[in-house]
Amino acid sequence: APGTQTAWAQDRAHLLHPYTDFATFADEGSHVIGRAEGVHVIDAEGKQLLDGIAGLWCVNIGHGREEMAETIAKQVMDMQYYNPFGHSTNVPAAQLGAKLAELAPAGLNRVFYTCGGSTANDAAVRLGHYFFDMKGQHRKKKIISRQNGYHGATYVAASLTGIHGTKYGFDRIGEDFISHVSEANLYAKPEGWSDGDYCDYLVREFEARIQQLGPDNVAAFIAEPIMGAGGVLVAPEGYHKRMYEVCKAHDMLYIADEVVTGFGRLGEWFSSEALFGYTPDILVCAKGLTSGYIPLGATMISDEIYGTIARPQCEGGIFSMGFTYFGHPVACAAALKNIEIIEREGILNHVRGIGPYFQDSAQSLLNLPIVGDVRGSHLMLGIDLVSDKASKAPIELTEQAAAKVFQGCMERGAIVRPVGDRIILSPPLIISKDQCDELIGAVAGSVQDFIASQE
Ligand code: PLP
Repeated sequence: APGTQTAWAQDRAHLLHPYTDFATFADEGSHVIGRAEGVHVIDAEGKQLLDGIAGLWCVNIGHGREEMAETIAKQVMDMQYYNPFGHSTNVPAAQLGAKLAELAPAGLNRVFYTCGGSTANDAAVRLGHYFFDMKGQHRKKKIISRQNGYHGATYVAASLTGIHGTKYGFDRIGEDFISHVSEANLYAKPEGWSDGDYCDYLVREFEARIQQLGPDNVAAFIAEPIMGAGGVLVAPEGYHKRMYEVCKAHDMLYIADEVVTGFGRLGEWFSSEALFGYTPDILVCAKGLTSGYIPLGATMISDEIYGTIARPQCEGGIFSMGFTYFGHPVACAAALKNIEIIEREGILNHVRGIGPYFQDSAQSLLNLPIVGDVRGSHLMLGIDLVSDKASKAPIELTEQAAAKVFQGCMERGAIVRPVGDRIILSPPLIISKDQCDELIGAVAGSVQDFIASQE
């Protein structure tokens, strides 16, 4: 395709891709994606690929919607940007605020807009701190997050993140501010424990950590309803509700990071209350909010928090945080159109039907000798590759099993996401049954090829 060679050369010469080994990347080059439509992306050589990861957990309504392009273009022509600080506003930002309050669990009515998920998590922490400051509890600042949780790339969000790799190359904000408790990984729970025993253990560990840090020092717990990048880990039944109750018992806030789980991926606008039975004090979203057409994040707070922080300036009532692009009119117009499409096309209902089909079909992968676990919910799926099913020993990373399965899927025309020794799938929400079969079939074939290459 025209421009491809130049794009390749320019990319290699200048771009620092996220999570990439720059040295090897310079030799191997990049994969130029030129077009995208529905559940497919088309690379510069014209090869069509089934997008099994919705861009990066975000293209919920599918790629290339003309309506989205028209909405974005119209908003640019009407009013593309104006200073949002202080008292000026714009129509899409205000309308989206009202819409988000309608969709979120009752009592979450105020929205702070950000540039994406990481900045929305930073805002969640800042709002939490501000809340306790306004209550005179100035020491309540520490945050508890989880090993393997992913919360983003800014310094605070990356420090909340508990994924091992993010620890290198920079001095994370220390344990005196952010403390990590165990992830909830049913596949790795100790031998002989029931799910209930495991849940008790996790809740006790959490309580003990709060005591160790001192309840007067701990502001909040942050967690994804289903851990995404950490491996699509579904917590034991009742876990979130119990963690929430522990928070309440210690006057702590529960921050639900719904950046991945929001906007239909689990068949609900938001999953914390609808699926897991707790109403967070702060709810963070991004990604599916605009289906990735334009970057946008949002942090929603409870009426209780709002009631405390809405004070006259003379009493310290000024929240000194804000992005140039707070409530960006083009991004908010895109979000409103995206939500309208999800509503009009009944996409949540579609996910409630196709989600269980996708999960059930994926269970067939367990017949393969190196697939140890297949788990998830609706359109989030995680597959663990192991060298031995009995001991659950992971495949040595040097074998690059997941990377090879990723390559095999590409050759078969499907994109999956390799993370360590895991494969993650999170397709656009408009995926059909046939396309689900195609995706699972590509993974099965590629795993079989990997096994054959080892023999
Ligand atoms: N939170 C979760 C759960 C995520 O998965 C991500 C991104 O993958 C983020 C936050 C960070 O969002 P962003 O990359 O838009 O800053």
